[in-house]
Amino acid sequence: MRQSLVVGNWKMNGTRASAESLAKGIIAGLGSNIAAIAICVPYVYLDTVGAVVKNTRLALGAQNVADKPSGAYTGEISAAMLSELNCQYVIVGHSERRSYYGDTNDSVAARFCQAQTQGIIPILCIGETLEQREQDQTFTVIDEQLNAVINLAGIDAFAKAVIAYEPVWAIGTGKTATDEQAQEVHKYIRNYMAAKNRSIAEKLQILYGGSAKPENAKGLFAMPDIDGGLIGGASLDAESFLKIYHSI
Ligand code: PEP
Repeated sequence: MRQSLVVGNWKMNGTRASAESLAKGIIAGLGSNIAAIAICVPYVYLDTVGAVVKNTRLALGAQNVADKPSGAYTGEISAAMLSELNCQYVIVGHSERRSYYGDTNDSVAARFCQAQTQGIIPILCIGETLEQREQDQTFTVIDEQLNAVINLAGIDAFAKAVIAYEPVWAIGTGKTATDEQAQEVHKYIRNYMAAKNRSIAEKLQILYGGSAKPENAKGLFAMPDIDGGLIGGASLDAESFLKIYHSI
């Protein structure tokens, strides 16, 4: 039985004060839900939010990590630095990084490995664009994105990783994949991983991301291969994020 997980991706939003109060608001509403929950906050607020979540079950994460361990890489943040800030998770390969900042399948694979060198769980984002879906390339794109990481890190590395299937056409667009569309790809991902290692695939948490909201979360989370969500916009409001979390 896989533990469910809901992760908020705050992206480049908020102030120090709003970050602190949003984290406090989420903690106040965790209740007795046993599903895991995390927030991926801007680097500069990791310290502040880290102090708020300390000794609670709200886990801390970052939104990216360098593909190198240290050195002359101006503006980058290493996995060791994130570890010092008590990050348990880090998002790698978000489609916004891939499309605006040139992250490639290979650099995402290197980031994934860097996170794991410090015991940080990478949340590997994969997914197709609308054009790729319309050209029936969804599964080819997924294969390529997964293969880059499997080839570098090895299939066993997925014992300590999370995958987020995020169709690019659904991110921040208000257009959610239907429960069945999402399940179809989640099942494909699980089967793909199972062909390499069945036991890893069965335990692997595969999250859905893309305009998930309180209104559609329950249906998505009820699908057999959807183990939770990576939530962008709706995670910026404690009430909506908690409603999604409690839909698990
Ligand atoms: C995301 O950024 O990972 C995401 C899923 O965003 P949104 O929920 O806003 O579509």
